[in-house]
Amino acid sequence: MPGFVNAHTHVPMAAFRGACEDVRDRLLRYIFPMERELVTPELVYWSSLFSLTEMSRSGTTAFADMYYFEHEVAKATAAIGMRGLLGETVLGQPAPDSKEPYGGLEYARRFIATWKGHDLIQPCIAPHAPYTVDFSGLERVRDEAEYSGVDIMMHIAETEPEHRQFSASHGSVLKYLDSIEGFLSPRLLAVHMIYLDESDIELAAARGFRVAHCPASNAKSGRPICPAWRMIQAGIPLGLATDGPLSGNGMDLQGVLNIYPKMQKVREGRRELLPAAEALRAATMGGAQALGLGTEIGSLEKGKRADFIVVDTEDFNMQPIYDWNAAVVFGMRPHNVESVFVGGRQIVAEGRTLLVDQDEIMSEMRKLREKCASFIARLTYPS
Ligand SMILES: [Zn+2]
Repeated sequence: MPGFVNAHTHVPMAAFRGACEDVRDRLLRYIFPMERELVTPELVYWSSLFSLTEMSRSGTTAFADMYYFEHEVAKATAAIGMRGLLGETVLGQPAPDSKEPYGGLEYARRFIATWKGHDLIQPCIAPHAPYTVDFSGLERVRDEAEYSGVDIMMHIAETEPEHRQFSASHGSVLKYLDSIEGFLSPRLLAVHMIYLDESDIELAAARGFRVAHCPASNAKSGRPICPAWRMIQAGIPLGLATDGPLSGNGMDLQGVLNIYPKMQKVREGRRELLPAAEALRAATMGGAQALGLGTEIGSLEKGKRADFIVVDTEDFNMQPIYDWNAAVVFGMRPHNVESVFVGGRQIVAEGRTLLVDQDEIMSEMRKLREKCASFIARLTYPS
């Protein structure tokens, strides 16, 4: 079958997975301080390889990522042989890779120049969110993306305070972004898109941008269920995503694909809605479209890149099979993936990575954990 496409993640956060769970205001009170203290190029490189090992072994062949030191993410992606739409984060405050607010713009310029035209890597620019990048910052991002001919990816309509702030000023966060001329365009990959009314969905469809839907991560944060099915009905290209290892934890797409149709059925109160074939489409072709690669990957068709996986269906969690789509959506687990190919090159065989040494990656992660442990303990239990 075609490889899975993970439409949004932060692969370098693997070193922090499982830290500071189940707390209020996690991003501002825990994650930003942790990142300012601990994120280095070395952590980003090995943590990325760690996440990508989990992702490729579970059948993901392409993904979209947003983080700091994105150059290291690109190096890790090329090393393991996966396909990535990779965005350097722009933040209106100091960040791990820039002392100045908006330093990410300068980094993004260099990052794009280095990787543009690479066979596996598509560099792009990733303003963090409407509440961390201001109006003129977003105008600069738009201009930079147009000038370089790259995509923009951003968290949009994800949090309740963001929803309240922009609803009060502009009617909704999407209407606020539409007031920045040319910002809502087919160039944009919008992540989360939870707080939307019918007029926002119409606006999104009219502007022609793409969406990454993160049901597992959103549920863990206690957010309302995203109107994903309604966006698909409106013709909006929508892919599924794990979000980062700190937000969604599991980096395999099976865990997301399994709950995606279930949560939409709960949201709409309809059992027949979003049948397995349509759900699976979001994890493959929908993701390809979300990455802007709909004509190149996402399905097994003559003329497309050979990004595909071999699944061992002869296992207890998949048998018996009457409906292949249902078996993959509700039954398949990461261990069923046997081999993985990207662009015709085999990158996983019998569940092991071929181009990088997964045992070395595991031992580097143990070292990272040692480096992070005392800071994370102090942050979690301040004296
Ligand atoms: Zn995210």
